[in-house]
Amino acid sequence: MIFSSESPITFDDELTTETDVVVIGGGIIGVSTAWYLTRAGVRVTICEKGRIAGEQSSRNWGWVRQQGRDEAELPIMIESNQIWQTLSEEIGSDTGFRQYGVMYVAESEREMAEYRDWVELAKHYDLKSILLTAQEVQEQVHGFEGAWKGGVVTPSDGRAEPFIVVPAMAQGCQKRGALIKENCAVRGISTQAGQIAGVITEHGEILCRAVVCAAGAWSSMFTGHVGLSFPQLTVKSTVARTAKAPEGFLGNAACEDFAMRRRQDGGYTLAPSGIHEHFVNRDSFRFFGVFLPNLVESWSETTLRLGGDAPGGWNATRKWSDDEPSPFETNRVLNPIPAESTLGALRERLSRRLPALGNIDFVETWAGMIDTTPDVVPVMDQISSLPGFYLASGFSGHGFGIGPAAGRVMADLVQGNSPGHDLTRFRFCRFSDGSKLDRGPSL
Ligand SMILES: Cc1cc2nc3c(=O)[nH]c(=O)nc-3n(C[C@H](O)[C@H](O)[C@H](O)COP(=O)(O)OP(=O)(O)OC[C@H]3O[C@@H](n4cnc5c(N)ncnc54)[C@H](O)[C@@H]3O)c2cc1C
Repeated sequence: MIFSSESPITFDDELTTETDVVVIGGGIIGVSTAWYLTRAGVRVTICEKGRIAGEQSSRNWGWVRQQGRDEAELPIMIESNQIWQTLSEEIGSDTGFRQYGVMYVAESEREMAEYRDWVELAKHYDLKSILLTAQEVQEQVHGFEGAWKGGVVTPSDGRAEPFIVVPAMAQGCQKRGALIKENCAVRGISTQAGQIAGVITEHGEILCRAVVCAAGAWSSMFTGHVGLSFPQLTVKSTVARTAKAPEGFLGNAACEDFAMRRRQDGGYTLAPSGIHEHFVNRDSFRFFGVFLPNLVESWSETTLRLGGDAPGGWNATRKWSDDEPSPFETNRVLNPIPAESTLGALRERLSRRLPALGNIDFVETWAGMIDTTPDVVPVMDQISSLPGFYLASGFSGHGFGIGPAAGRVMADLVQGNSPGHDLTRFRFCRFSDGSKLDRGPSL
């Protein structure tokens, strides 16, 4: 079940007035960061405006994917894959992580050429991705209808259960001493001599020496409030989960028409490929120039709508004083309405491609607001103009799988340790230092 603002509050620790690090946002990035900070004995408070994992981190497809990653993300994702392998044991709760692979299937030579390029790249990282013939595709997914040219699979990739993972990790953080409070929006920051000195929450001030902003789709609004311009927009994506279904492909698979993941409960999580909605708001105009290439590239896949569900909506104020309610309190859990037309398209595509699932019941449908940057990779950085303020956001539709290692990286950054990977591509100043944005390629 997805979480909403009506879901019961389960994390309600009494806040202290002083800690080492405040994490803004209880999604997979914030909670993973806290997980590694608490492991190192750092005192952490997680402030979550709504519910732990209420937004993207429970609404995603549950793919833990190395295949097709941006090359700069790949070493971090490989580390994450390793973390996933022992995470259930560490947190004492089954995350559902299973290595059944990620498979992409192609009907065109152009896609097959991309897959061949990927397999070559994967060799440098010892990933053992494999090209599949059309017949091998049919053998992996019985009854998968299409004029397939072939596919590509990375057997070490996996799947996990988004509803379960982050709340379980959050409980683990609590056991190590972290304080976690839901319905606790951070409205702003306080500084001393230009450095972070604390945060202002709706329940009062917390003094701290570092703040990690992991506010997902709301990060741009928050950073804007503290004087930092972070180009970030959102797209809505609609998802369905099915009733228990006959066992088919056990991993994650995608073709041009839809994507599927076998779930731990015997059903599938399904979503149509290439259908998104963008709710035009003030940020759409503010960041129009930098996102224009994205809009052009995804024009046929993106429906533009006015106002609606975007963080803050069309009319929401972008200016508030820290002693009054902020837009974060107005919308506790971003819970967009799933698009009926998208679900209709999903049903039609499923009937055509995988008739065995054509009539299966959708027992739950939902939508999530995916946050994205113009170059479709996140920021993981300390902001040089605001020492003590760290940004970990903009994971652009693939932050669930990489989340645990991204948290480890952020925890080390905050402690002044080496992050263990080259983070140049993820620097915040790439949007303002005049460098040309590197927009891909990734599958
Ligand atoms: C439909 C869909 C499918 C996806 N599929 C996949 C997939 O298969 N694999 C994959 O790797 N990724 C996938 N993703 C992307 C992935 O879910 C995200 O990249 C990831 O969850 C981002 O985590 P986060 O912690 O940055 O953000 P979120 O999970 O959105 O968490 C941010 C949290 O910050 C809170 N917050 C915001 N502002 C404040 C404030 N001022 N004060 C306090 N709290 C605040 C919010 O309430 C929210 O809970 C998908 C996303 C969607 C929506």
